[in-house]
Amino acid sequence: MSQHAPAGEIRVIGASDVRRLLPMQDCIEVIDRVMRAVSRGGALLPLRTVMPLPGGVNMFGVMPGYLDEPAALGAKIVAVYPQNAAQGLSSHNGVIVLLDTVTGRLSAVIDAAEVTAIRTAAATAVATRALARADASTLAMLGAGEQAVSHLEAISLVRPLRRVRVWARSADKARQFAEREGARLRLNVEGVASAREAVAGADIVCTVTASREPILRGDWLAPGMHVNLVGASVPSSREADDEVVRRGRYYVDFRASALAQAGELLHALKAGVVDESHILGEIGNVLSAEVPGRGSDLDITLYKSLGIAAQDLASAQFILERARAESVGTSVPF
Ligand code: NDP
Repeated sequence: MSQHAPAGEIRVIGASDVRRLLPMQDCIEVIDRVMRAVSRGGALLPLRTVMPLPGGVNMFGVMPGYLDEPAALGAKIVAVYPQNAAQGLSSHNGVIVLLDTVTGRLSAVIDAAEVTAIRTAAATAVATRALARADASTLAMLGAGEQAVSHLEAISLVRPLRRVRVWARSADKARQFAEREGARLRLNVEGVASAREAVAGADIVCTVTASREPILRGDWLAPGMHVNLVGASVPSSREADDEVVRRGRYYVDFRASALAQAGELLHALKAGVVDESHILGEIGNVLSAEVPGRGSDLDITLYKSLGIAAQDLASAQFILERARAESVGTSVPF
């Protein structure tokens, strides 16, 4: 199929079409491939720009990138408004702009909220598939927002979940999440009153909150666990304390951004609890067997997700090719 935009036309693809064109299972495989490509040097990924907006709550981010395979060039432009959920809106709104890699012409504009929800969870699923124990079947979800929804689906696709405990700072939201998502995905999901209770006995732990302070403590972890730290994406925020970082075999999505923006790691480095050699590798290195992952069923493994433009571009390129093949989205003269 042609990678090139028909002359004079761009395709605009909204949220509902993104959901249809990028099923979670497909996205997991897209992300698996692109993380390997990133770690073999197949991407140009300048650090994202995060501009705090007046008021100290909201942020504006630009994430540019280039990929060799699948060939993709562009950027995600995203406004992060953490309080949007109260109005039933996504906290991450914006667009992914794709440019033709041969001509540089604009080829597509794609809803970023939906891609972000799907690709972030798919990336966590890829890491969980690589690092969690093969028999992991109990999940602790800390947070009950948009990412928690997509993460539950994604993780259920890579491990047979028999039991899920969800914690949120509002007990009502945890209960509603458990009822709604448990029924939707036909999983045994229970809302619990504390993060500690959720984590006790879990094989996989996911932190997907907007908290700026630790909600996960290292002394709660037990041998054999796999932990995904997903929520904190700026240096000043962390969802886990230094002890979590210290105890885990620590893997990242992209080393350069982890050293610049992973709040938990930066805090532990500053405190002298770990040094940079604590990063064992990128998940792409583990996938291509250049770096060992879990060594035994007793290891605690830790995956720090910050999210990278390569995940957005690869997902967007996949969506665009499907949209062209199936004549989905709106074709606009440009
Ligand atoms: P939502 O707004 O949909 O959900 C946020 C969740 O965090 C809610 O459960 C909310 O609870 C909870 N929360 C907020 N503040 C606190 C706090 N102080 N303590 C405990 N819980 C808290 O956001 P998303 O699900 O879309 O995103 C979750 C996090 O993931 C965000 O921080 C976001 O920036 C990050 N993210 C990371 C990505 C990555 O690639 N790594 C990509 C996209 C997002 P309540 O309902 O009570 O407010």
